[in-house]
Amino acid sequence: MSTPKNPSDIARETLIALASRKLAPTPENYARMYREIGGEPAAEDIGATTSKGKLVPAWSELIRDLLRQLETPHKGITVTRKKEGVETVLSRFANDPEVLFGKLQGLMRSWSSAPTAPNPDELLPAVAAPAQTHAAGTKVAAAGTALPSADNQEMLQQLRELLAQTLENTLASQPELASDIQGLLVQVRATDNSDRLNDLAKQLRQFWLKLELRGGDKAKIQEGLVRLLRLLVENVSEMVEDDKWLHGQIAALQEIVAKPLDRRAIADAERSLRDAVIKQGTLKQSLTDAKATLKSLMTTFIDRLGELTESTGEYHNKIENYSQKIGKADNLAELGHILKDVMHDTRIIQASAMRSHEELLNHKKQADEAEARIRELEHELEEVSELVREDQLTGALNRRGLDEAIDKELKRSDRSKTPVSIALLDIDNFKRLNDTLGHQAGDLALKHLTRVIKETLRPADTVGRYGGEEFLIVLPDTDLQAGIEAIQRLQRDLTKKFFLHNNERVLVTFSAGVALRGSEEDAEDLIGRADKAMYKAKQTGKNRVVAAE
Ligand code: GH3
Ligand code: MG
Ligand code: MG
Repeated sequence: MSTPKNPSDIARETLIALASRKLAPTPENYARMYREIGGEPAAEDIGATTSKGKLVPAWSELIRDLLRQLETPHKGITVTRKKEGVETVLSRFANDPEVLFGKLQGLMRSWSSAPTAPNPDELLPAVAAPAQTHAAGTKVAAAGTALPSADNQEMLQQLRELLAQTLENTLASQPELASDIQGLLVQVRATDNSDRLNDLAKQLRQFWLKLELRGGDKAKIQEGLVRLLRLLVENVSEMVEDDKWLHGQIAALQEIVAKPLDRRAIADAERSLRDAVIKQGTLKQSLTDAKATLKSLMTTFIDRLGELTESTGEYHNKIENYSQKIGKADNLAELGHILKDVMHDTRIIQASAMRSHEELLNHKKQADEAEARIRELEHELEEVSELVREDQLTGALNRRGLDEAIDKELKRSDRSKTPVSIALLDIDNFKRLNDTLGHQAGDLALKHLTRVIKETLRPADTVGRYGGEEFLIVLPDTDLQAGIEAIQRLQRDLTKKFFLHNNERVLVTFSAGVALRGSEEDAEDLIGRADKAMYKAKQTGKNRVVAAE
């Protein structure tokens, strides 16, 4: 045996040698035979491992399968065709055992997917009969069209192989589509009637479309990433509320970016980020609500404290401080700290606050009682002052009573257009009476005079004690002359009704001034004129009645 240099020749001869020598097609046997035929003193494991050092799996199985499939009759695939297929694969891929392995497998799959022929030597496939069986055992629907001639069949086979190889090339550049491509490869190699061809064409169109779309992936990925980033940036301010949450999102995005980018991963990330943003929004709202509630609770709480500690400025300051802090706080942790501080201070001030509160209550109670007492006293006083319109000694009106009486009579006079006069009396030499008979005698003399006045004058007339031993008499419906006459009558009566002291007659006289009230004259002016007249009476000898000017 010559020593071929071409690796595909070596591989082909290796397979033939293994078969002819009836050696078990193990990887070891293949490797040894390969080295033998290739004349290379290579390492023991050459051909059994890939260039990357991985074990190529199941070469023995593959070769066994290959030999079996070569001999198995397949509809439309002659042994010659099969050998040509093996030749082609070997010549193309023999320098890479791993690829070679895959190609040979693919080739065998294409054979095995064709229906098995009843006669191994038959070159032309039989017209498809109903319910013909695949090599794999599945039933095939009856084909509606006749199969092409042998030449055409051969050409079709070549075209199928070409298509299969094109697809295989795609596999290298689109490893993500491996399962699609593998599926199509099986179908391509199994296509033996027009119905299947139509079906295949449809699937291939879909595949190209997919491939085309994948071609545009880069732009889409970039677009998706930009969208994702924008979403993240736009929501970053919303997320800072909870740092952990943000870190979680960033970690998820980092993972996405670290992996080979594809549109689906980006879409997934975008969807999950959107979900998270929505969830975060809801949570944030609840959090804001909870914070507002907490804030309001805390404010109420410290307001209550404020009420409790009303009396103490220091607490007010603290509470004011807490109120401000609560207003500024924008996270729960901060509010928690403030609440802790408030509780701490509260415990300290509580006892004091309670004391203050008790004191306050006490003071308030005392104040209330005092107020009630004051009201009571004021009421009593009013009642009392109602009574104190009379002079306690004489029973005549006192100054207050006199003022009211004069006012009343002046008003009545105005209303009734009737005259009103007043008389001012001053006891003559009263000092001397006191001095000679004693103060008590003086009092009795005052009482005696009052009684005589009341007895002598009309009931409508009013008498009041104006000063110590001075009396004022109001004479309604009385002009000046009548007034003078009334007071002179009193003088006379007094000489008859004399004051008895220790059974001794004591003469009491008085000097008087009488004034008729002038038009719209007030009480003060009127009394002033009467006083002047009375003074004149004193000066002109006492015991006289003088008309006021
Ligand atoms: P005249 O004739 O100038 O009026 O002399 P008089 O002594 O009456 O006048 P004076 O004003 O000098 O004295 C009045 C006295 O009246 C002095 C005072 O002690 C006495 N008097 C005033 N009020 C009372 C009183 O309520 N009871 C008694 N007992 N004496 C009184
Ligand atoms: Mg006097
Ligand atoms: Mg007098």
